This record gives sequence, C-alpha cells and structure tokens, in this order.
Amino acid sequence: MKTNLIVGAGFSGATIARKIAEELNEKVIVIDSKDHIAGNAYDYRDKNDIMIHKYGSHIFHTNFEDVWTFLNRFTSFNTYMHHVIAVIDGIETTIPFNLRTLYDVFPHSLAQKLETKLLTQFKYNSKVPILEFTKQKDPDLQFLADYVYEKVFLHYTSKQWGVSPDSIDGAVTARVPVYISCDTRYFQDKYQGIPLNGYTETIKRILNHPNIEVQLNTKFTDCKETYDRLFYTGSIDEFFNYKHGKLPYRSVHFKLEELNMPYYQSNSVVNYPCNYDFTRIHEYKYYLRDTSDKTVIAKEYSEDFILGKNERYYPIPSPSNEALYQKYLNEAKELKNTYFLGRLGDYKYYDMDKAIKRALDLFKEIIQQ
Ligand code: UDP
Repeated sequence: MKTNLIVGAGFSGATIARKIAEELNEKVIVIDSKDHIAGNAYDYRDKNDIMIHKYGSHIFHTNFEDVWTFLNRFTSFNTYMHHVIAVIDGIETTIPFNLRTLYDVFPHSLAQKLETKLLTQFKYNSKVPILEFTKQKDPDLQFLADYVYEKVFLHYTSKQWGVSPDSIDGAVTARVPVYISCDTRYFQDKYQGIPLNGYTETIKRILNHPNIEVQLNTKFTDCKETYDRLFYTGSIDEFFNYKHGKLPYRSVHFKLEELNMPYYQSNSVVNYPCNYDFTRIHEYKYYLRDTSDKTVIAKEYSEDFILGKNERYYPIPSPSNEALYQKYLNEAKELKNTYFLGRLGDYKYYDMDKAIKRALDLFKEIIQQ
C-alpha cells in the first residue's frame, strides 16, 4: 500500500487527502505545524457560543459545481449571501461600489446624472476594475472615478498592502470592481454560504476516513514518516530552505473585543477605507445567526509577514515575486512524486473554492499518470 504525506491540514491538504484515501485506497498521513486543523479557515465556538473565525471572516462562495458537490458531502450551508458595508464620509453604503452606492453618497440629482452616464458608457451588470475605471474622458465620470479611487481604494489598499492601488497587481483591486448594477452583494457566485457546523468541523469530516491519520504540532522538518508521494501546502520557499530568497507575504492581526451588547454594527463586515488604522471590523455572530446577549468583534490590522512573528495570509502578486516563485517552481518540477498546492504552495491569492478546485484537479492529474 502506498503512503502519502500531506503537509498542511487546511482545505487544500484535506481535499487531496480525502480523494487519495477514498478513491485510491492508499494510506495518507496529514501533518500540520499548528495545534489545530483547518488552516486559516479555522473557527471555534467561544464561551458565548459565538462562532469565531480565528483568522478573519471566511465566506464560502463558488461557481464550481464539483467543488460545491464535494463540500456538500461533509456539510450543509446556510443561505447567507455576503454584503460588505463601507463607511464613506460617515455614510454606510455597500461595496463593491454599485449603482445603489451612488444614491447613498451623492445628492439624488447628481446620482441620477452619474447613473445615466454610467449606463451609456458601460453595459448593465458589467464589472469594471478601478484601474480601468479611472481612465474616463467624460468629466463627470472622471469626477466619479477619482471619488471612488480616493474613498474606496486608495487608503484601504495602502493600509492593506502598504502601497497605493497602482503599485499592486491590478488583479488584487479587480476583486472588488466598480459594479454597474443594483446587485449590492459582495459576490455573485451561484453558491454562497457558511457551513452550518463551521469550517473546522467540515474539514474534520473531510479528514475522517480510515486511511487518513492526522498529526498536529508536527513540522515537516521534524516528521520521520516515509512516503511514496508528498503534497506540500506550506510555503514553497520554505520547502527549499529559502535558497533563492524569501517569498514576501502580507499578514494581518486581529484585535478581538467582547462587548456587552447584542450587536455592535449593522453588518458582518464593515470596511473603513479612509478612517482608523484598521481596514475593517468583523462581527462574527452574523454568519450563523448566533444568539447571545454579547457580541464579539475583530478589528483587522495589516502588516508585513515576518517569519516567526506572524502568519502568512496574502501572497503579494508582482512581477518580481512571480519571477522568484518561478525559480522555486522550476526546482519543484525536478522532484519526483512531490506536489505543491494551496495559497502558499502555489503562491496564489486563492479563495477557498479555488484551493479546493486546485486539489480536485491535481488529483485528476495524478490518477492519469
Ligand atoms: N479594497 C479596497 N477597499 C475596500 C475593499 C477592498 O481598496 O473597501 C481592495 C484592497 O486592495 C483589497 C482588495 O481590494 O486588498 C481585495 O479585497 P478583498 O475583500 O477581496 O480582500 P480579502 O477579503 O481577500 O482580504
């Protein structure tokens, strides 16, 4: 019987573990250096019975049928559709900036004029990345583009990434485009929701198979297991002992506050692009409609990732980082029976569904070999 070692018990590691254990009937050992499974999707119920997302809000959303079908074997989801509120000039409105936002932040007549111009210029329901949106010829639309750039993107992105929106790969800010629509949701995916028993429980169930053994508090470098295949979901530079240099990441930390009130804010996530040093405040009880006289909020502060000090959260897409990653990828290709996946293994800003999709696709590749 072949043995597979999987480094990392997050969504990527758990998905590939399950597929191998179940469909190839092979032994799988999953190790994780943390004292818990589920990676950065880890959640837990606190003493007030509120489900806390330890590493920040995780909202599941996907258009991938195979990912949705796979996950639904292990959990049911609620019908939560995510909205994000941003406070712009003290006014609460929805982002991505959309046609409704116009009427929240501008006088009615101005909003109407801008809406008409937008609908002449762009197709209804189109999504326009901010860096493209700022290239307007019409002076009214140029005014709007400058406004959105300044009020939504400039300061938030500077806090989040330490650089302005034009200095970061356009794909990052394009995740939150200007949306020529009355749809005020954050995501438009067909399937959205929060696992009813939480992410940790979902991943626990994925890993719950007679062929799978999980070892926590176990670093790859300390692991004595022998194996036929290796799946590495840690950071690829770490695997190669940083021989070409460190891949940069952004990190975040959360200041948790327990408050003696049923609700603190009007929504699960409220962004503060232009105010304060934190980027956003999460209020976790919204996700599963937890009932408690108390509430828990988390203020999110961004910072550089420093090895040994904090966690890796966001790969930083840029041509030089991509070139560095390619050096590691080239080395990885030389290795037999060794596969890299996940946000850190692939150095890609995956959402949860993309990480699972990547693991499902990798499994298909392996069985064809
Ligand atoms: N962004 C912004 N203002 C906002 C929300 C997002 O400038 O109010 C930009 C920012 O650069 C951020 C990126 O859009 O990093 C992607 O946002 P998203 O909410 O997708 O980030 P995540 O939830 O993955 O941290």
